[in-house]
Amino acid sequence: MARHLLKLEGLDEAHLTSLLDRAAGFIPAARGEAEAPASLRGRLVAQLFFEDSTRTRLSFEAATARLGGRSLSLSGVGSSASKGETFLDTALNVDALGVDAMVVRSSISGGADLLARNVRCAVINAGDGRREHPTQGLLDCLTIREAFGKISGVKVAIVGDIANSRVARSAIHSLTTLGASVRLVGPPTLLPRSFAQIAARHDLVSITHDLDSILPELDVIMMLRVQLERAAGGGIAADYREHYGLTHRRALRLPAHCIVMHPGPVNRGVEVDDDVADDGRRSQILRQVTHGVAVRMAVLEESVGRTDRVR
Ligand code: ASP
Repeated sequence: MARHLLKLEGLDEAHLTSLLDRAAGFIPAARGEAEAPASLRGRLVAQLFFEDSTRTRLSFEAATARLGGRSLSLSGVGSSASKGETFLDTALNVDALGVDAMVVRSSISGGADLLARNVRCAVINAGDGRREHPTQGLLDCLTIREAFGKISGVKVAIVGDIANSRVARSAIHSLTTLGASVRLVGPPTLLPRSFAQIAARHDLVSITHDLDSILPELDVIMMLRVQLERAAGGGIAADYREHYGLTHRRALRLPAHCIVMHPGPVNRGVEVDDDVADDGRRSQILRQVTHGVAVRMAVLEESVGRTDRVR
């Protein structure tokens, strides 16, 4: 039976840990420094991207290729979506091509679940609206685990446009399942009251609107982009950087061991200053990208890998 990856909500600690362990083993292959097993040999993976993507799309393609599989790629632009074909009809037709898996990004929250209920092949969510981005959550966990040797007890702040971020949702689910404490930080417009209710139900999640007050206690600071393409379409407040940007001056107040993360794309000078994004001691931003390939290898292998794979 096809094994989907639709969300991290509900995945237990053992499952998350086994994906992270497998991904950690793939890091040298993801960098092109070691051979990976051909566990996707003969497998066809459709990469369906109905929203823009750089890292996620290329890393799913790289992961497929590293494991010996083949990609068929389709974007919203240039496909029959522009002739009015529905999202579901497109997926049913791609499924009928005989693919083994489809990697799907769309602006519809729950879009990947809809396809999983209707197609025969495995469905992997590469970001559905503002709901989840499970492979991003996994690569964030892998990056934190590599930096600290553990996730349990690590203090993580997720800063910015929490309301519209699928990255934040996947990180909250996975990091808390693995025992990290998560502080959500943002202006009231981007961190609405519904998150206070989530925090009230969960001992490991808390919220604040005051970034400056928590800087000295952090192990990880994860900056988010303001999602202008979603409800934050009103624009970025003129004083956003002043209150929520990881500026040079703010970075000086972080503990020496604190790492800086960002899922990309980075709006330099808005959520992160140039010198902070490029600080090789703290910034994990490019490391996260490499980990994205390794994590996607682990996920694809779990979903549609050959059972006779080399261990
Ligand atoms: N690349 C991430 C996403 O697709 C984050 C972002 O776009 O800001 O959700």
